[in-house]
Amino acid sequence: MKIVVVGAGIGGMLTAEKLGSLGFDVVIYEKANSLDEMRYDWHDDVSPVVCEELGLTIPKESAPKRSWTFCSPYEKVTREFHQDENCPDLSIERRPLNKMLFDRASKYATFIFGKTVTSPVLEGDRVVGVVVDGEEVRCDLVVDSAGAYSPVRTNLPVKLGVSSLSKNEVFEAYRAFYRRAEGSPTPKYTNKVYMKHLGELGISWTILDHDPSQVNVLVGLVGGLDDDVLEKSLSFMREHNPILGDEIVRGGYKVIIPVRYPATMMVADGYVAIGDSAFMTIPLLGSGIASSLWAGDILYRTVKANMDKGVKDLFDKKHLWAYQVGVYEKFGAKHLGVDVLKRWLLTQSNEMVDWLFESKVLSNTDLQKVASGNLVTITPAAATEKVMGVGLKNLPILLKMNTMVMKSHKGERIGKRIPKKYDERKVSAWERRVKALYR
Ligand SMILES: Cc1cc2nc3c(=O)[nH]c(=O)nc-3n(C[C@H](O)[C@H](O)[C@H](O)COP(=O)(O)OP(=O)(O)OC[C@H]3O[C@@H](n4cnc5c(N)ncnc54)[C@H](O)[C@@H]3O)c2cc1C
Repeated sequence: MKIVVVGAGIGGMLTAEKLGSLGFDVVIYEKANSLDEMRYDWHDDVSPVVCEELGLTIPKESAPKRSWTFCSPYEKVTREFHQDENCPDLSIERRPLNKMLFDRASKYATFIFGKTVTSPVLEGDRVVGVVVDGEEVRCDLVVDSAGAYSPVRTNLPVKLGVSSLSKNEVFEAYRAFYRRAEGSPTPKYTNKVYMKHLGELGISWTILDHDPSQVNVLVGLVGGLDDDVLEKSLSFMREHNPILGDEIVRGGYKVIIPVRYPATMMVADGYVAIGDSAFMTIPLLGSGIASSLWAGDILYRTVKANMDKGVKDLFDKKHLWAYQVGVYEKFGAKHLGVDVLKRWLLTQSNEMVDWLFESKVLSNTDLQKVASGNLVTITPAAATEKVMGVGLKNLPILLKMNTMVMKSHKGERIGKRIPKKYDERKVSAWERRVKALYR
């Protein structure tokens, strides 16, 4: 049986290796002309736990991430956030990570570079292949790993019910590494992250890289990043961070990251979406490398379990559904809750964000949890402590925050109640309950 992986995304490459090892004929079509041209030339933060769990080698070029300093919109308030000392995130270089996944997948799958997939091929309600540079390629399963605006997912007929991405569910981000300004002293805070920077719906950061001659900059906005806003953010950061020089060393362009809960429908007959194409990033931060890798492993275990049971129509939606259940159980349900939190945070006034950081109503543990895609928990003891800390005058705000925290936990509970077996009626009812959370 033939499997086509569209795009050599992170999860797609792991899936190609694993499904190839089960004996399928796997081909990956990647629009970049070579491995070196593929995606970004920078590094990203990833929890090392995923590599340990999946037996992947951590590229040796990686470095432990330093603690962050959260800044309120106009840097009126700064708040240090300490990484979990026992297991700090790692900044992993993309290129060696891609190379490692490529080397592993190449043992079982064929990569075809310089080929762009433009749409799916359908027979009735079944995906039976893709169009590659104008030619139809037929297969038994399409694994869609082509990122947020995958042309396969976006060209599927609406009646298949596969989830779509709206404009306000993406983060358009400018990322660049600048040469450090010559002779600039090392600042007190080296990793500054601005929440709702300049009052806009997004985040920015200025980080002194682990290579201290470079400064890592990001400016990201929900819905789209205008050049005007980008210029204002950059000039603010230059003023407040004298380390930031003018010369771009890496990156220097805009990219798209989905920032919403995972697709509530990521499978169809003959089709499965993975990674950004199924919106698997942590909604608050846009980190999606770990979840894409986990998803690749879940997809492999789903197919293998069905093969072991002797299932014939392996790639029917009803059998692929167990993959989506696995994704929701592993991280999707938590991401639902984090999305509730993110939407709430972004609608708060600048003064409220100042206060949230200043009052320390969010503890270091709370911040650690949110940053890793987990939910804040307010125990009765913690609630008392928070009330004592903020004073009775601010009780109404604390109560509002508590309501939001409870709603985020409700989101997680709904996510976990995903129907374990595919039943159209039950699945539609579950999707309606998920969507109701965000109305
Ligand atoms: C600025 C930025 C910072 C980030 N920081 C982090 C971070 O710190 N930590 C973290 O975990 N994640 C981070 N992410 C998110 C992370 O990059 C993704 O979630 C993760 O890589 C999974 O994406 P993907 O592999 O599904 O898709 P992508 O990385 O978008 O890969 C899709 C692949 O498909 C190919 N492709 C696209 N269209 C076609 C087509 N039509 N035909 C053929 N090939 C096609 C592309 O060339 C690409 O190789 C960041 C993303 C960005 C943009």
